[in-house]
Amino acid sequence: MILNEINCENGVKLVQFENGPMGNLQYAIIDLLSQSMAVVDPAWNTDTFFSLSEKFKVSIDQIWVTHGHFDHVNQLDQLCQELKNKPEIYLSTNPLIVPKSSSCNYLNDGDQFRFGPIDIRTIYTPGHSPDSICFHFGNHLVCGDVLFINAIGRTDLPKSDPTAMTKSLHRLSLLDENTQIYPGHNYGPKLVDSIKNQLTTNPFLKRASSGYSGKSS
Ligand SMILES: [Zn+2]
Repeated sequence: MILNEINCENGVKLVQFENGPMGNLQYAIIDLLSQSMAVVDPAWNTDTFFSLSEKFKVSIDQIWVTHGHFDHVNQLDQLCQELKNKPEIYLSTNPLIVPKSSSCNYLNDGDQFRFGPIDIRTIYTPGHSPDSICFHFGNHLVCGDVLFINAIGRTDLPKSDPTAMTKSLHRLSLLDENTQIYPGHNYGPKLVDSIKNQLTTNPFLKRASSGYSGKSS
C-alpha cells in the first residue's frame, strides 16, 4: 500500500510504502524519464516491488540496502533471482549479509553513485548496526533504522554500538534543517519529517546534536 508519493528534484519521485509484519517502511525511487526504479530494503513481499514497477512502467535497476538486518533484506536474493535484468546492489562495506548477486557495490562514507539524473551520497551511520548507511540526495535522507520519527533504532542488539550511534546521530543533526528523513519503520506519529522538526520533537536527536564531544572525523 502506497503511503506517500513525493516529487523530488529533476523529476525523480520517491514512493513510500509499508511492507511486512514489523512496520517496515520501504521506498521506491523512480525516474520516469529513464524508466528506472531503485528499491530500498527489499523484504517481506517482492510482489509489492513488481506491482510498483508495473504501475509506473519502470524496471528495477538498483537495490539500495540501508543495513543487513533480516527485516530489511529477507527478499534481496529472491528479488534478484526473479528479475530478468541484473540490478546493481548498493550496500555498506563489511555488510552483515553477503548477497548472492555479483553486482554488488560496496559503499564507504562519502561515496557517491548515480541514479537517473541524481547523485546519491553515502553517509556511514553505525550504531544500530555496524553496516548502517544513509542515502542522501538533495534534501532527502533515506535513513533505515538509524533515525525514526521521534525515536531511534535499538542499540541493545548483539552488534549495536551506542557510542557510535550518538556520533552518527550528531552527524545527521548537522544536515540542512530542511532535509526530509525517510525512516525504516513506521513507528512514529508521522511518516516523514524534517531534521528541523526532529531536533525539537526527537529527544535522541536533540541530545546528540549537542551532546557528542568526540572527534569529528
Ligand atoms: Zn535494523
